[in-house]
Amino acid sequence: MRLIAKTILLALIPAVSIWASDTINLVVLHINDTHGKLSPYDLEGRSVGGMGRLATLVKQIRAANPGRVLLLHAGDIFSRGEPVVIYTGGHVNLLAFEKMGFDAITPGNGEFYFGIENLERQTSRVATPFIHANVTYQYHKGAIFPPYVIKEIQGVKVGILGLGLIRPWHQSSLPLTLNDAVETAKQYAPALRPKVNFLIALTHIGAKNDSLLAAAVPELDLIVGGDSHTRLDTPSRIARANGAGRVSIVQARHYYQFLGRVDVQLKKANQGYRVARLDGKLLPIDEKIAPDAEIEALIAEQAVPLDEVICQTERDLPNARDQKSALGDLVARAVLHQTRADVAILERNGDTQGFAAGDIALKDIYRLRQYRPPLMLTRLSRDQIRAVLSARMYLTAGCSFDRMENAIANLAIRAKSDSVGTYLVAMEKQIAFRHFLRNAASDTVAFDFTGQRVDTALERYLRDVKVIRRAEDKKRGPG
Ligand SMILES: [Zn+2]
Repeated sequence: MRLIAKTILLALIPAVSIWASDTINLVVLHINDTHGKLSPYDLEGRSVGGMGRLATLVKQIRAANPGRVLLLHAGDIFSRGEPVVIYTGGHVNLLAFEKMGFDAITPGNGEFYFGIENLERQTSRVATPFIHANVTYQYHKGAIFPPYVIKEIQGVKVGILGLGLIRPWHQSSLPLTLNDAVETAKQYAPALRPKVNFLIALTHIGAKNDSLLAAAVPELDLIVGGDSHTRLDTPSRIARANGAGRVSIVQARHYYQFLGRVDVQLKKANQGYRVARLDGKLLPIDEKIAPDAEIEALIAEQAVPLDEVICQTERDLPNARDQKSALGDLVARAVLHQTRADVAILERNGDTQGFAAGDIALKDIYRLRQYRPPLMLTRLSRDQIRAVLSARMYLTAGCSFDRMENAIANLAIRAKSDSVGTYLVAMEKQIAFRHFLRNAASDTVAFDFTGQRVDTALERYLRDVKVIRRAEDKKRGPG
């Protein structure tokens, strides 16, 4: 009897829309910690990753699910980047993401390392919405991005709240305040919940903190996470502290290895919609997917300037992380010359290959400094310079010394001091931060920006030098 009644009812209703809107199937695609690995790479004998392949996969899923796909990124986009990512300050990544139609991105700590100025600039150049609720400017306490966005999909309102972190040990955190992510979510979620039918936290706080968030904030339906590079083949389901069911957490490993897919079925209920089903899985990004030609072309076009050869070297310039090396000396000398300082103090080059004899192209330079540290200038006394150099191993130019365990001896500074005994010192902002800026007691040491970064200084220097001779006169710069 009931069946017959239902059949008649169906026949009487001319439009399908009422029935269609009773059940809504959302597809939430998510990725995190892609970092700057734009190209495919080898993993245990298989070719995996690649931004072009991601674009193809997203297009395929959108074609099969028209109008009901959300595409989210949970942060870490710029850091550990290929030279084109470093050279463009992350612009190439965001251009591609804009083209792919990302619906929301929460920046990770890797985006802050390039400086909040760069993050503001790069995000303002694309239409993609960036969200972040819990990192604010330190002095005026204003937001760096809108805390959330609301997307409407087939009549369903989806709220996406951005939560992330910054690293207090990094100089880029200096103008910012990190507010607790869970506490911030507790402030936003109760007011946001009545405005939406489905609430997602798009986070870059790590899987452990996602679990705390899930338990503590009952308004959330789904947490799309990042930062811990966790592979969750299926969603982890965390019980809400108030006993009202479970919250799902998803995360898709890293470096474009997987695209996460969450299928959400929402059914119309008395008030709005209720989640009838939520399933999640990871889709491999590998050689079975052909790269998207448009995205490949976009990356290639952005990388063209990096092929420019700006200098020749007649000898190999090897790099060594833990001792003096030809490449370390070259970088320090370039900074000394370009800043006209008396002494240059820089971070070591890290584990990177040196320059082989032959051409030096821009792409060789824009891989040496991952976070593009700004160069700062200050005046320091001989004792202050000695204290900095004693603290750890740095690249230096304009001075010489012998290193013992935790001290240096025979410090000789080539330039003459000024009348009060200070020298002009160029250093990366991270070193300035480590020794002076984060230490309130060092307020007396003031720093000026040079407007240069280590890589731009090296680029300008090598353009002037043109040829690095077999037997270099180490005391002279060009001109
Ligand atoms: Zn990461």
